[in-house]
Amino acid sequence: MKKIRKCASCGAYTLSAKCPKCGGETKTAHPPKFSPEDKWAKYRRRFKFPEGEKGK
Ligand SMILES: [Zn+2]
Repeated sequence: MKKIRKCASCGAYTLSAKCPKCGGETKTAHPPKFSPEDKWAKYRRRFKFPEGEKGK
C-alpha cells in the first residue's frame, strides 16, 4: 500500500520521497495521530517525561 506524501517546501503531493517539482523533501501527508504507533508514542512520552519533570 502506497502512502501519499507531501512536499515540505512547495506542498505538492507525490508518492516519492523527493518532490518531483522542486526536489524538496516530502513527508507523509497523514497526520501523526492517525498512525497506529501514535498511541505507543504517547505512552513513551509519558514514560520519558513524568509529571514531576514537566515544570510550569
Ligand atoms: Zn516541492
